[in-house]
Amino acid sequence: MSEVVVIGAGLAGSQAALAAADAGVQVRLYEMRPVKMTPAHRGHGASELVCSNSLGGEGETNAKGMLQAELRAARVAVMDAADGNRIPAGNALAVERDGFSRAITALLEAHPNITIERSELTRVPDEGVVVIASGPLTSDALAADILERFAGGERLSFYDAAAPVIEFDSIDLEVAFRAGRYGQEADYLNCPFDRTQYAAFYQRLEEARSHTPHDWEKLEFFEGCMPIEEIARRGVDTPRFGPMKPKGLPDPRTGREAFAVAQLRQEDLEGRLWSLVGFQTGLKWGDQKEVVRLIPGLEQAEIARYGVMHRNTYLCAPKLLESSLQFKAHPRLFTAGVLAGTEGYLESAATGWLAGVNAARVALNLAPVTPPATTMLGGLVRYLATAESKNFQPMNTNWALVPDLEPDDLPEEWKNRKKLGRRERRPLLFARGQRDFLSWLEGLRAGTPLR
Ligand SMILES: Cc1cc2nc3c(=O)[nH]c(=O)nc-3n(C[C@H](O)[C@H](O)[C@H](O)COP(=O)(O)OP(=O)(O)OC[C@H]3O[C@@H](n4cnc5c(N)ncnc54)[C@H](O)[C@@H]3O)c2cc1C
Repeated sequence: MSEVVVIGAGLAGSQAALAAADAGVQVRLYEMRPVKMTPAHRGHGASELVCSNSLGGEGETNAKGMLQAELRAARVAVMDAADGNRIPAGNALAVERDGFSRAITALLEAHPNITIERSELTRVPDEGVVVIASGPLTSDALAADILERFAGGERLSFYDAAAPVIEFDSIDLEVAFRAGRYGQEADYLNCPFDRTQYAAFYQRLEEARSHTPHDWEKLEFFEGCMPIEEIARRGVDTPRFGPMKPKGLPDPRTGREAFAVAQLRQEDLEGRLWSLVGFQTGLKWGDQKEVVRLIPGLEQAEIARYGVMHRNTYLCAPKLLESSLQFKAHPRLFTAGVLAGTEGYLESAATGWLAGVNAARVALNLAPVTPPATTMLGGLVRYLATAESKNFQPMNTNWALVPDLEPDDLPEEWKNRKKLGRRERRPLLFARGQRDFLSWLEGLRAGTPLR
């Protein structure tokens, strides 16, 4: 019988193993904990949530909610484990982390097609179908092997110092204005603070708990990529003389310079994603959201990608991967999770599931598949395969991953409307994605073994 090897029983590897095993192939799942721990994991269980306990906001106006709905439709185990261990958290799907991890571990241990090996794999097996899901903290030996043999010479370990990325739709353009410093090209969106707003922002930034540094995270910061909270610690005015400098940026509506300015720079070709310039941060994600929403014009900001400050191991997906998560140059190899260039628990689980389905398909001599572009998972894996490869950074789920609505997607009564607000557009994007995902799943289930 065909066998698939999965490396790593984290968020991605667990779902990959279950998906492949459910499709009827034998799975050998390697997990190095507890024999060897990572710097961030604390326990021995599968799918440990290393930081926050949230799998993201729910509902049809939330991009993570759309991905959750797809995972539910595909009966991906992560959603059952989340539902069985949820704790109240407003509109977010938060879980009791130990129960969540225990539930996934129990499924893996009980599955008749899965054998768990508690050992570090230091080399990708030379033969057979393999899903590499060893995560952002892949052990050094394995990372070196991947680098040498499968990463096309691209460096794959980085100290990530990323700033939050905001969805354009959620920026208040009555407040933020377009301008370039000293009359240069108006390529930036500028969020002006008055003295009171700045004081409130600064106070919250000061209070915000910085990610507790692990030993391996005690970095020497270069001046150029100093986290915003570190800059703020140097004094109340330091950000105003650094990344939040208002000089040369008069507000065209008043002609006056603000007390401070936060600038946003376009991130993608279509201008749907904007990153906060000089705001690289390691703040916890909940705090980060609160701090960002104190910036004038960003009160309703939807964060497409949180800022991070930690060691991150990931591949340059656009150079190396197909949208099926298969390596272009090594069709027997798949990857998922952070290593594949996604960011986030849910994204890791979702790509793990797809990699597991496709690894099983290849083991059964079937062609790999990719969900439609209008679905959140389809949009995410297409992004990985086609993003700009220069300075590629892992990506969270967000609305810019799916194509905008076509006239045919609109209800009759809205067809003549010039512009729809995001509260109107998102449920339509969600409904279109669900419809396309369900019909894709139906086709997949008809042709192959799939739970
Ligand atoms: C410090 C930190 C904080 C984060 N906080 C959040 C957050 O709050 N919210 C969020 O959504 N995302 C967060 N992320 C990002 C990301 O969602 C998680 O890291 C997620 O766990 C990634 O899933 P994964 O499956 O790719 O990797 P992991 O879940 O880390 O799984 C990889 C597994 O592979 C094992 N492994 C590694 N090397 C080997 C080897 N050679 N042989 C065998 N096993 C191996 C590891 O022990 C681990 O169990 C954070 C990441 C980091 C590093």
